[in-house]
Amino acid sequence: MAERVIPLVDQRNAAWVLPRPVQAGGASERPGAAGGPLSDTLGRPLRDLRISVTDRCNFRCSYCMPKEVFDKDYPYLPHGALLSFEEITRAARLFVAQGVRKIRLTGGEPLLRKNVEVLVEQLAALRTVDGLPLDITLTTNGSLLARKARALKAAGLQRVTVSLDGLDDTVFRRMNDVDFPVAEVLQGIEAAREAGLGPIKVNMVVKRGTNDHEILPMARHFRGTGIVLRFIEYMDVGATNGWRMDEVLPSAEVIGLIRRELPLVPLGHSAPGETAERWGYADGAGEIGVISSVTQAFCRDCNRARLSTEGRLYLCLFATQGHDLRALIRGGASDADIASAIDQIWRGRGDRYSELRGTLGADASGAAGRRVEMSYIGG
Ligand code: SAM
Repeated sequence: MAERVIPLVDQRNAAWVLPRPVQAGGASERPGAAGGPLSDTLGRPLRDLRISVTDRCNFRCSYCMPKEVFDKDYPYLPHGALLSFEEITRAARLFVAQGVRKIRLTGGEPLLRKNVEVLVEQLAALRTVDGLPLDITLTTNGSLLARKARALKAAGLQRVTVSLDGLDDTVFRRMNDVDFPVAEVLQGIEAAREAGLGPIKVNMVVKRGTNDHEILPMARHFRGTGIVLRFIEYMDVGATNGWRMDEVLPSAEVIGLIRRELPLVPLGHSAPGETAERWGYADGAGEIGVISSVTQAFCRDCNRARLSTEGRLYLCLFATQGHDLRALIRGGASDADIASAIDQIWRGRGDRYSELRGTLGADASGAAGRRVEMSYIGG
C-alpha cells in the first residue's frame, strides 16, 4: 500500500513537523486506531477540545489583551484566515473520534463571531465514540449574553462560563478597560439562567492589589444561587501582560479568606482532568472552585487540546508553537489523514509547562520562543 508523508508547517513559527507516514486510506476513526488507546508520552488521554472562534474581543483586560498592545493597529487575523464553521466542525468530528468528549468555544470573545449559534448547532449533532452527546460549553465575558442566550440554548449549547472579575463597578470597569458595567454582565448571567444554560460557572481572575478585595463580595453574591464561582490565579500566559509573581494571589489564600467568614469543606474532583479544586459551603449553600495553575500545577491530568482561530493545534496553554491543521484541511487531506496527524501529534505530547515553571527561570519562554497569546489560542 502506498505511503504518504503529511508535512505540517507552522508558518507563524516557521517550524516543520513531520508526522510519521500514514497508510493511504488505512487509518480508521477509532480512538487510538494507530496503536492502542490514544495517550500522550505522559499517559494522558485526549478528552477536552477548546476551540477559539475569534481572536478579537470587545474588552481590554490588562491581564489578557492590554490596550497598549491590542490597539487599532494590532494585526488581527483576516476573516479568510479563520476556520469556517464547516472546517471547525470537520476538525471537531475527527477529534471526537479520537476520544474528545467535551468542547468549549472560546476566544477572544466567542459571541463576537457572527452566527456562532450555527456552529453550536453543527457541533451539537456530533456524538462521542460511545454514541453520547458531547458536553458543549462556551466561555464568555457576558457582554452579549443577554441577547444571545436563548438562541445558544436552542442551538444545543448546554451551559456557559462567564468571566467576571468583581462586583464593584469602578473596579470592574477599570479591569475590562472599556468602561463596561457590571450590571450588564449580571443581566447576561440572568438571561443564561432563564434560558436553561446551566450549571453556570463564573470565573474571577484574581490580581493581588487590583481586585482581591472583591473576593468576599463575589462569594457572598453567588452563594446560594446555584452558580459556581471559581477563582483563577493570574497566569503568565502570552507575552504582553507584564505578569509578575507578586501579583498572583495563591488560591490557598483565597480559600483561607473565604472560610474565615463562610466555612468551607473540601469536595472531591468531579471529573479527571478538571482544572478546579472544589470546595463546598459547610451549610450546603453551594460550591466554589479555585484554579491554581501557578501555585499548584495540574499538568499531570491535563487532557486538553486547543484549536486556534486559524486552525493551529496547541497542546498547552503556554505553548510557543502549534501544528497547522488548516494546511491539511485546506490542502485536501482526507479525514483519515487528518485523524492520523492528530493521533501522532497527541502521542508525541510531553508538555507540562506549569509544573516546570519554577525551574525555567524568570523568562520561562525565552529559550523556546514567544508564548502565544490567550486571545489567539483560546482561554
Ligand atoms: N472572552 C471570553 C471571556 O472573557 O471569558 C473568553 C476568552 S478569555 C481569554 C477566557 C478566560 O481566560 C477568562 O475567564 C479570562 O479571565 C481568563 N484569562 C485571561 N487571561 C488570563 C490570565 N493572564 N490569567 C488567568 N486567567 C486569564
